[in-house]
Amino acid sequence: MSSLHSSDLTRATVDLLTEMIRNACVNDGTPDSGFEHRNADTLEKFFAGAPVSVRRFESHPGRVSIAFTVEGSDPEAEPLTLLGHTDVVPVDRPKWTKDPFGAELIDGRIYGRGATDMLYITAAMAAVTREVALSGTAPRGTLTFVGLADEEARGGLGAKWIAENEPDAFSWKNCLSEEGGSHLPVHDGSDALVVVVGEKGAAQRRLVVHGDAGHGSAPYGRASAVALIAEAARRVAAAAPGIRSDELWEGYVRSFRFDADTEAQLLRGEGYEALGDLAGYSHAMSHLTIASTVLRAGSAINVLPSTAYLELDIRPLPGQTQDDIDALLREALGDIADQVEIQHLITEDASVSPTSGPLYSAIVDTFAEFFPDAPVVPTIAAGGSDLRFARFRGGVGYGFALHRPGQTLGGVLNQLHGHDEYVELDDVSLTAHAYRSLVRRFLGA
Ligand SMILES: [Zn+2]
Repeated sequence: MSSLHSSDLTRATVDLLTEMIRNACVNDGTPDSGFEHRNADTLEKFFAGAPVSVRRFESHPGRVSIAFTVEGSDPEAEPLTLLGHTDVVPVDRPKWTKDPFGAELIDGRIYGRGATDMLYITAAMAAVTREVALSGTAPRGTLTFVGLADEEARGGLGAKWIAENEPDAFSWKNCLSEEGGSHLPVHDGSDALVVVVGEKGAAQRRLVVHGDAGHGSAPYGRASAVALIAEAARRVAAAAPGIRSDELWEGYVRSFRFDADTEAQLLRGEGYEALGDLAGYSHAMSHLTIASTVLRAGSAINVLPSTAYLELDIRPLPGQTQDDIDALLREALGDIADQVEIQHLITEDASVSPTSGPLYSAIVDTFAEFFPDAPVVPTIAAGGSDLRFARFRGGVGYGFALHRPGQTLGGVLNQLHGHDEYVELDDVSLTAHAYRSLVRRFLGA
């Protein structure tokens, strides 16, 4: 590993990662936040003098995404597009013991907001793309690296905006982005590597009920919106969609090599605690999840509210439709269903790419180069990534990175959006070299 650390590729990746953390492109979900023009400028400077074509996309003042393309020599060869987001989520400063935007290197770790999510991967993608451009030999297939704004707010001013407004700016056919290449804590001490092939969807709902307005001093005979929304909340919380077991879930469970009883239990959707810090993620990977998150009614203590609502963060699995979810909610509400209006907020179907095909094979072969004995385990992410826009456009998308042995999926998931976020130099280095290897293998660079 130490020889990888001292390589030019690692040095370039670390320098770029450091500058991008310091640019503090914090996306708080509002259009006027983000300031990704700073990371776009840093990337443009990083590519200065390299023979690439550059395109900037400004969806809203300051919300800049930027694409760098190395043209392939063979128009028939498969293209490859690397989607790296450049925004980061806000920090809760009092909870940090390190400077969240200092990019300090301490004991082999680089600290800062976005270090893991996903600036180290974005930096590795950029460094490898520049290396290919400067090599003097064109790859067979076209290589594009895109630094994308607004991933943390579901891409409306980044990947989604480009897919809708400039869909032909680059190829969406074969895409890579965050995360992947972490290890599973296999029960018998052997190893397994994760590749992310899909992600759950969004089925946000607002349940609205009505009551009789009036003075709080005389409630007699008036229907209470509060009592009704509370009953709706109770019924929805009691609804427990069953396990959705498929090939991916079965493969994931079996890869842990538990004893037969534990394995059978997990395949039935029970005993998640056997998975330790992966229990919550694993439950989400095998279930439609419904989380009650926002509840509102009333504004003054002496006024009976005429409406009340409950918001639900619902995440469907591939194949579960928005209609399925409305039917499930109505069933859970039972005999009060006709008093509850179900409004749709953000809705996006889950998406998944096949565990076969040229890009998937290139990932498996690249993992085997670094970890020859580790089986590769396809998973579905519980959250979102820019890869869904590639899948919606008919392309394939996989989460790809690489971590040192012992760096588990649970450990990486705990870093995302956490306090004192950091990335280990080992992982920066491995990810950069894995991208170099995959790009050469896939594009014939
Ligand atoms: Zn991310």
